[in-house]
Amino acid sequence: MSYRFDRVLLGRLAELLSVQPVKAAEPVRGFPRPALRVVEPAREVDLITAEEAAAAFLVALGIDLDTESLAATPARMARAYAEMFAPRPFDLTTFPNDARYDELIIARSIPLHSVCEHHLLPFVGVAHVGYLPGERILGLSKLARVVELFARRPQVQERLTQQVADWLQDQLEPRGVGVVVEAEHLCMTVRGVRAPGGSTVTSALHGQLRHNAASRAEFFTLIAAHQQPDVDQGRLTQPNPYEDNPLSQDKAYS
Ligand code: ZN
Repeated sequence: MSYRFDRVLLGRLAELLSVQPVKAAEPVRGFPRPALRVVEPAREVDLITAEEAAAAFLVALGIDLDTESLAATPARMARAYAEMFAPRPFDLTTFPNDARYDELIIARSIPLHSVCEHHLLPFVGVAHVGYLPGERILGLSKLARVVELFARRPQVQERLTQQVADWLQDQLEPRGVGVVVEAEHLCMTVRGVRAPGGSTVTSALHGQLRHNAASRAEFFTLIAAHQQPDVDQGRLTQPNPYEDNPLSQDKAYS
């Protein structure tokens, strides 16, 4: 994975240049630490050009847009994709681990919606995200926000899984991180091999969850102990994570 590769290269480069990574000063205990505001770099979204391109795309495929029902479809397509590629900003609030809690913290079955970057078709499923806390703990809802941060962009499932794990490791510095993603890819369901119901499972582990067999086994046992909702069921019963997105203007079609 080129992302991992770049990190390795950067590490080597730092060694060669004898650059020591600068460690932020430890905040004084009890001193409020400001929440990290996580926002994606602003991207230019040109909905008009996207709509024109969507219209040209559909016409090129022989679809007649001169019907009442299809007339606004290019505009809806443009908004839908803009929405799917726009994660919501959030504050990464962390708290001191005053209770010295040292067992696994796991958020299971976080609903996941992303878009396969090879076909631009959705993949839908769940993510299980866990960590072994160190000095700080995290608001539980933030684990879902981190998943969303990396899901709302053209993706491949392997990279998405790794990015969530790497990001948590870097930001929270826990003793271990584990991420498992199970998803059904529409590009495999509705075209190509046409294998509905097939799901793809990926995992990424860091720290103690990677290197300590007992911790790793506990992590996977706790995930498996949960009755997994079927991906289709999950889609119907989970709340729509895109609900309060300002770009979501046509909820009737979502
Ligand atoms: Zn695909």
